Amino acid sequence: MTDAQVDAVFDRFHEECGVVGVYGHPEAANLAYLALYALQHRGQESAGIASSNGQTLLVHRGMGLVADIFDEKMIRRLEGWSAIGHNRYSTTGSTVLKNSQPLVVKYTHGSLAVAHNGNLVNAEELRLHLEEHGSIFQSTVDTEVILHLIAASRAPRLVERVIEALKQVQGAYSLVLLSEQEMIAVRDPHGFRPLVLGSITDSGRSTHVAVSETCALDLIGATYEREVEPGEVLLFTPQGVTSYFPFPRRPLSRCIFEHIYFARPDSLLYGRSVYQTRKEFGRQLAREAAVEADIVIPVPDSGVPAALGYAEESGLPFEMGLIRNHYVGRTFIEPRESIRHFGVKVKLNAQPAVLREKRVVVVDDSIVRGTTSRKIVKMIRAAGARAVHLRISSPPTIGPCFYGVDTPTRRELIAASHSIEEICRYVTADSLAYLSEAGMYAALREESGGFCDACFTGRYPVLLGERPKGSQLFLFSELER
Ligand code: AMP
Repeated sequence: MTDAQVDAVFDRFHEECGVVGVYGHPEAANLAYLALYALQHRGQESAGIASSNGQTLLVHRGMGLVADIFDEKMIRRLEGWSAIGHNRYSTTGSTVLKNSQPLVVKYTHGSLAVAHNGNLVNAEELRLHLEEHGSIFQSTVDTEVILHLIAASRAPRLVERVIEALKQVQGAYSLVLLSEQEMIAVRDPHGFRPLVLGSITDSGRSTHVAVSETCALDLIGATYEREVEPGEVLLFTPQGVTSYFPFPRRPLSRCIFEHIYFARPDSLLYGRSVYQTRKEFGRQLAREAAVEADIVIPVPDSGVPAALGYAEESGLPFEMGLIRNHYVGRTFIEPRESIRHFGVKVKLNAQPAVLREKRVVVVDDSIVRGTTSRKIVKMIRAAGARAVHLRISSPPTIGPCFYGVDTPTRRELIAASHSIEEICRYVTADSLAYLSEAGMYAALREESGGFCDACFTGRYPVLLGERPKGSQLFLFSELER
């Protein structure tokens, strides 16, 4: 396989998404829209909503930001008492409308829509098998495999067909599905990606909401109930809510990177405040990697809570030495390299008034390729800083994610092939330190057992290397360790 082919296969794993399902509200699509708006950080490339008016499903999807895709008229047309929504980021190869979600199909039992956050690791061989048996795929997203498996099931009830389908897939999935009458929410048995439940009680009526993060519940005025449990299937019908645990138990593998970077700081994740957790990472980092300095500054926005924690613990003043232009999308997410390189300067500006003659501790959440950090360090020096000490509030990122976080290939991850001293030299910092793995779990006050930390440790909970020979995915075994 050439490098280009490896990258093409790897592209399938570049997905970050937010999902929402609303059941039992006359403004269901409007609530889904607001929830997607609150989840915009989870994906900026496409968004969509499917609603049910009881007889049929209505759907609208588009490329770009939630606010640009929907207007009032469109939301009104998405009538009905239930709706699911999705927003998505993926890489260039698959940035087409037909890959955006919710995916909707018509089959013998009616219509079905699905919104998926995560990545299936055996999608490729399931797809080949289904195609051999006559399935015709319309998109290249692994989510479509789930729909075909559901359609192929002979079970009489939708929830049984969904369970039968999901018993065949492996990997990460937080899902919401919608038929004309029912909604289903599922979190995979490992619990890779988050999914929470909320409710709105209004004039005796109860609305159920399933959504990726609690910050979306806040916006729509829903009360946080609990997380959807790993391996739980929740069925919402006009008669009420039923919970099933139909899958064999698997080791809990909640994504730790959600706490480090991905989730919004105002969300509760796995029952903990993301903001407080990030502050705690910063405090722990200050204990592990203290340095003589005058000020602590964050790389906004991702480094802010950790920098606050670092400053509190070290007793150094917290300053905003870098100012972010909030009207630029997150540069990392720009699909093309040329734009990303240019992007750092567009997004961040260093303030000489804060930095001149100062020894500066700069806190960021992670280093991926190292290109951003290098530019930031240079920018801070150009603004007059005497010394720049880079502190990272997570361990070195050494492995790509196969479960739903957008990371580049291993070759591009600087820490996969370079020592901390080498990275320090590359980013031109006076010193560089990362949070230790033990420190990360100490800050979380949790055992490492319940998390997927493959991006930091290379320990992948679902082993892609075990895929049958002949599957393209087999080649990941060599990328893994
Ligand atoms: P890099 O130049 O590749 O080292 O980019 C590092 C920056 O990307 C850090 O400031 C992180 O906050 C940010 N980052 C890390 N992971 C992701 C991700 N999956 N999506 C978008 N940004 C990320």
